[in-house]
Amino acid sequence: MNKLIKESLTKLKQKNISNPELDLRILLKHASKKNNEIILSNLNVDNIDIVKFKSYLQQRINRQPIAKIIKKKPFWKNDFYVNNFVLDPRPETELIIEEVLNIFKNKNLKFKILDIGTGSGCIAISLAKEFKNASITAIDISKEALEVAEKNLKIHNCYNQIQLKMIDFKNIKSKFDLIVSNPPYLSNEQFNNADPEVKNFEPKLALVGGDDGLKFYREYSNNLKNLMNKSSYFVCEIGNNQRQDCEEIFENSGLFLNKVINDLQGIERILSFLKI
Ligand code: GLN
Repeated sequence: MNKLIKESLTKLKQKNISNPELDLRILLKHASKKNNEIILSNLNVDNIDIVKFKSYLQQRINRQPIAKIIKKKPFWKNDFYVNNFVLDPRPETELIIEEVLNIFKNKNLKFKILDIGTGSGCIAISLAKEFKNASITAIDISKEALEVAEKNLKIHNCYNQIQLKMIDFKNIKSKFDLIVSNPPYLSNEQFNNADPEVKNFEPKLALVGGDDGLKFYREYSNNLKNLMNKSSYFVCEIGNNQRQDCEEIFENSGLFLNKVINDLQGIERILSFLKI
């Protein structure tokens, strides 16, 4: 194996990075001069821009997440631009898309969707691609996050379907057939104990939901029903062990728990509610 590769791998391992070989391959690919040539088994460095590679490696050694280094993360059927102002789209959040597809079987349906805390825009854009006649309002209170969403809207050519707005959901007046959200849901303690990749490189604003992580569900339970038509759905992501609390929080709000979906680790991760 090439000396540079060997040394790089050792450095990543010393930092306890969980998939050092995979990360190395991705960084090499990203630093390839041959238009992102795929470097498979031999970890060849012949066509690598060494200066670029070393800079990427150093960022990873500092525990910057891969997606933040290469500024791209796959989610559902597309790649999304990301930077430090948004959460990297996570695989478990794709379950929101799956559940929406499960609820609304007619892909030609003309309906109105609200995405609260859109961040990179990955949920809104994925839904826009699945439901070509859906009209989506995607909101966030972070101007910087909305700039990222705007960039993704442009990349994925979704201007005709998605309207981005910098607004708190409490100030939204119209009604929707579906509301989706992956709100901040970590407790302060969970955030403090999170991996450096999350704690140091992802926006706290998008991660922490007050002291116990449940702040946004409480706010949602007071307000969301006013934004929903009869028979509208609300599909959201929740944190570890928040299912029971969320069920209680929403119980008195006129929304009924419709379904609980586990992620691949078996953790209750997505709740869907119905307004009757
Ligand atoms: N699942 C994320 C994490 O643990 C948190 C995402 C969120 O707060 N919505 O890093």
